[in-house]
Parts: sequence; C-alpha cells; structure tokens
Amino acid sequence: MNVDLHTHTYPASGCSRISHRDYIGWCVDNAVAAVALTNHGDISDNLSLRPALAAEGVLLIDGVEISTLFGDFVVFSPDLDYLGTLRDVQEAPHPEAIPGDAAVVWVHPAAGGGRSGSAYYPGIESMVAGAVHAVEVFNGSWLDRQYVTGAEEIAASLGVARTGGSDAHRPEQLMTCYTELPDPITSTADVVSALRRGLTIPHRRRVAAPRRRFRLF
Ligand SMILES: [Zn+2]
Ligand SMILES: [Zn+2]
Repeated sequence: MNVDLHTHTYPASGCSRISHRDYIGWCVDNAVAAVALTNHGDISDNLSLRPALAAEGVLLIDGVEISTLFGDFVVFSPDLDYLGTLRDVQEAPHPEAIPGDAAVVWVHPAAGGGRSGSAYYPGIESMVAGAVHAVEVFNGSWLDRQYVTGAEEIAASLGVARTGGSDAHRPEQLMTCYTELPDPITSTADVVSALRRGLTIPHRRRVAAPRRRFRLF
C-alpha cells in the first residue's frame, strides 16, 4: 500500500492551508486508502478527522512532528495519549524514552529543523543514533539533489529504513512523495512495525518543478 507519511492540516498546523474539508475531499477524489496526519505537536486534527475519514473508507495513520536541536522528527504511535505529550519544539528523542509501540522518522534531515531553526551538520547522526527507526529521503519540499543525497547517506550510515512523504501544506502537494508499505496496512501499529522492520520503499512522483519555492516544513 502506498501511503503519504507526512502531511499537515489547518488548524492543528497553523502553517498549513489544507482545511479538513480539503483533506477529506482530496483523499476521496484520489481513492486514498490510508494517509498519515503529522501535525506540529498537535493531535487535535487527528481526533476530529478520524471519524470523517473512516466514513469515506480512509484509514488515518497517527503521527506528530517535533522540531529539535538536531532537526525534525515525525513520531508514529497508535497511543494518542503518548503522541499528545509531544510538543512542536522540544528536546530530541532519547532511545530509552521511545515506547516500543512507536517509531521515529527523521524527516528532511539535511534541511535542518523547521520550527527549531537548527541546521544539519555532518556527524549529527551520532547524536540521534538509536532513537531513529527511519529517515525520510524524499520530502516534497526538499527534493533538490543535495537534500535527497544527504538523506540517503544519513539513512545508510544509521542502517535504518527509508521513507517518502509530501510534507504537504497545500492540497495539491499531497502524495507528491509517499512510502510503499507491505500489505496489509490496517492501523498505525502496522506502519510502526513496517518502519521498525525496515520494510518501507520511498517514492517520489515525477512532476514539473514548481515555479516558486515555499520554505515550509
Ligand atoms: Zn519539518
Ligand atoms: Zn512537516
């Protein structure tokens, strides 16, 4: 199953222009089976969108994006109480603090931290080793070669899974990058399992380069 593992909606992510209505409509129009909603330190849209998406046959995967000194991470977990403790800007994840039913994806690693303003520097991988289960190599906002190559090298050095996610902040950006997951995917727990076992394949959709670049995380 192909799943966009990195999306943002408004109002939980104030930087997103994707309303609930747009999000549901896009999923229905494009026959999306599952999508991950990964707002900045806020699960409120996950709670409110879940029933509406389920009514349309769309599975919602739960995640939260955090910005830290070492960059941005998306934490996936079926435990919404745990996800609800995460903040948009906070300390980096420590291996011992990550529950066994959660998985951490280091997103757009070579681009640094969106809300923390942190920059990537070589060797930073050693600071997060053990706390990261996957690296996002295709991010819809950061597809220039240096970001993709940098992320590939980081994933290889950590020996972890690789993912793709659109990081969509506007409806037309949804699914520009996505992750192929082993079937069947019926829950957030299935996604966590695939990430932890390294069974993910990143993809990017070939589209014409946008005329204008939006620096959004
Ligand atoms: Zn980000
Ligand atoms: Zn993001």
